[in-house]
Amino acid sequence: MHQPRGVGFGRTYLLEGQLDLVGSPLGYHRRVGSSNLRASPGGYVNLHPDAGNDIYLWKIGDGVALDTFSTSKTWSYLNPLGPRVTWYEAVWFKGRIPRHAFIVWLNSRHRLHTRDRLRSWGLVVPPICLLCNTHDESCQHLFFDCVYSSEIWLYFTTRAHVSPTVLFEDGITWLKNPCQDENTALILRLACQASVYILWKERNSLIHTNTFITAPTRLLEVKSIIRCHLDPLSRAQRISSPSDSFLVTWCNSFRRHQFVKGFQPSSIKINEGCAKF
Ligand SMILES: [Zn+2]
Repeated sequence: MHQPRGVGFGRTYLLEGQLDLVGSPLGYHRRVGSSNLRASPGGYVNLHPDAGNDIYLWKIGDGVALDTFSTSKTWSYLNPLGPRVTWYEAVWFKGRIPRHAFIVWLNSRHRLHTRDRLRSWGLVVPPICLLCNTHDESCQHLFFDCVYSSEIWLYFTTRAHVSPTVLFEDGITWLKNPCQDENTALILRLACQASVYILWKERNSLIHTNTFITAPTRLLEVKSIIRCHLDPLSRAQRISSPSDSFLVTWCNSFRRHQFVKGFQPSSIKINEGCAKF
């Protein structure tokens, strides 16, 4: 019998006609990568002289044996999906920026190495938040409670006239449906993810390069990123009127910069051109 080459999964062979090696009395099974799939390479079988050519059939679990192999179905069988988390739509929504969503996903899984986690592992690191130097650094503080991060996030929530919850976990879930207007909801999701990404970047920049960039400047950076991202999204929108686009919503509600407390135009050293956003 011919055997397929270059395939990394266990195989179950069914022979056409009367031979079925799955139920072979030899009982030989080879475990390959998973307990869910077993291979039966066969052994001694009595081939009838008039038997036809062998064919290969792929059988996944208790499914029907087919003559086609599906990598995706095999992967799904070997790695079954768990229950969907409540914040799934808030992180992996359509139109997201992948690198931002990845950081938020890590944070939702409590996998970012904030200082409270490092200290809980016994590492000797100062507990203080690098962005404000007044409170201990934790996920909740760094992305929601810190005055630095509040200055960025509040800009978007006040412009959208919404009041998110104060706890990080609840806030992520809240982003699934933050308001009635779909355009504004998408912009808020993008703003939250961009803010978390930029805040984590600023925090790491302080650790590794000791370079501090003010919150208003970071806010302009977030706005620039979102504005640039909304352009292709708006072009791909299927809307009855151009006034319903993401960009129009952005320009009407979020574009103009609101001078927040402590904002000093002279503090802008990078991305100065994005002020128009
Ligand atoms: Zn802080």
